Formats: sequence, structure tokens, C-alpha cells
Amino acid sequence: MSMVKEALRTDETQTNEGRTVAGIVNSMETLEGGGFLVRRPFPKASFSDFDPFLLLDEMGPMNVAPGEAKGAPDHPHRGFETVTYMLSGDMEHKDSSGHAGRLKSGDVQWMTAGAGVVHAEMPSAEFMRTGGVMHGFQLWVNLPRQDKMINPRYQEIPSARIPKATSADGLVSATVIAGEAMGAKAVIETRTPIIYVHYRLEPGGVVTQQVPHDYNAFAYVVDGAGLFGAEGERGADGQMVMFASDGDEVRIENPPDAKANLEVLVIAGAPLNEPIARYGPFVMNTEAEIHQAFEDYRQGRMGAINS
Ligand code: FE
Repeated sequence: MSMVKEALRTDETQTNEGRTVAGIVNSMETLEGGGFLVRRPFPKASFSDFDPFLLLDEMGPMNVAPGEAKGAPDHPHRGFETVTYMLSGDMEHKDSSGHAGRLKSGDVQWMTAGAGVVHAEMPSAEFMRTGGVMHGFQLWVNLPRQDKMINPRYQEIPSARIPKATSADGLVSATVIAGEAMGAKAVIETRTPIIYVHYRLEPGGVVTQQVPHDYNAFAYVVDGAGLFGAEGERGADGQMVMFASDGDEVRIENPPDAKANLEVLVIAGAPLNEPIARYGPFVMNTEAEIHQAFEDYRQGRMGAINS
């Protein structure tokens, strides 16, 4: 009897592979900005946020004909951060504080909107003329109450400066946008602790990402299909895999018999546990603060773009 118990205990220890999967969320398709199609796991009516994350959009991948590229013309933000990560295509960014930048394949812009910016996110003139494949992501990260009205900040990191790592067996590579993965540490600074890693796994590749116990964590499948969490639940292209809070690492595997590479974003962060009042481009703690944001925007207190 005691030997059986002992054997069971050993077995449990050996099969402990970190967090299990709490749920799989399908993306919905929606039109954003000037009319470009995005896949969006959240927010939607049944799933408003995943503290501290407020939104994830996948733009494309889509083939854009010459002259057909679309973007998001002038619009404001207050109270959170927008993180844009381009895989293909070419976007230009301009805003009310006179800041301008261009995002090419592999580049990241981490914009802390804070008290408010008005910005435009548009395809570059060159991409507009030539067309091509557009593929990218935008993640919205909430700011804690004490940071919602800070001055805007931009971190624009070209692909070449984003730390990358490869596993010893060569089957897994990681692009570390925020946090730490596979011995590489991100150069981007976040207001609250965030992990944002783009993993590519060849068939047979396995990765275990350390995630502090109190973080909310999910994976978004960019391409292919894989096995997630301690119990190896299947998630595929366009799905968001939410991990339970039952461990301090998440396991992802591209099965050896897979026909394609698996690409996933692993995103995790410490929850803020604060009330959320959101309306369109403003995310605050109270309704009164949302009204104030509209008023400030209308009065021009968030500025305007001088082009
Ligand atoms: Fe925006």
C-alpha cells in the first residue's frame, strides 16, 4: 500500500509540467481603423479583458494591392499603453507631441499614452505604392491608477535591437519583446511587469516559459497548431490559450509529427486588480474620468497632429 502511494507521488512529480489550460478563446474578425480586417480574441461581449491586458488584434496576414493599404487615421488614447509589433509591412506613426516613426518588419513600438496623445497609424507612402503582405499585432496594456495621467512615452525598438535566443537543440527560437526568455532579457521597459515573447517552434520543439505565480498568462497562436500546458491541450492558428494560475511556468510543444512550424506569442503580466471604465480609446478607473477624457479631447487638450 505504502509503495503504491509512493509510486503515485513520484509519478505526480514527474508529470508536473506547470500551468494547465483554463480555456481556449476563438478570435472574431472585425474591421478596425480605416477599414482593415483584424482577428481579435478580446475584447468582445463575453470577454472584456484579461487583466492587465485590454485588447489583442492580429492585423492580417493579408496581401494588400498597390494603393489599397489602410490604417487608423487621427485618434486619441488615454490611460493605457499600445504595443505594436510588425511582422511584415510598413507603418508610419505620427502624433500630437510631434513624434513620428516608422515600423518595419520585426520592429516594435511600445507607446505609453498616459494622459493622452492623438496619433495616426498609417501605411507608409512606400508600402501604399507597392502593396505587399501586411501582418502585425497590437496589444493594449492597462496602466495602474497612479500612472494613467503620466506624460506619454515612446520606446521604438528596431528588429535588430530586440533580443533573440535559440534553444540548444535549435528547434525553438524566441524574440523577447518584454521580460525574459531562454536567457535573453528584453530592452523595453514596462510600467508594470510584463512578459511578451514571440516563439517559433519547429516540429519536435518544446519550450517552457517561466511565469511568476501571480501573473495572468496566455498564448496566442500566430501560425500552426500545438500542445499547451501541463495536459497538452490543442490550440491552433487564431486561438488564444488562457493558462490557469496553477504554476510558475507554461509549456508549449510543437509535436514531432507536425507538418508546420508553430508560432505563438506568449504574453503575461501582473494583474492590476483595479476597476476598469473603458470607452473606445480611453481606459480609466471611473466613468467620471472617461467623461473628463472626452472633454479634454474635445477641448484639444490632447493636442492635434501637425502634418
Ligand atoms: Fe491607436
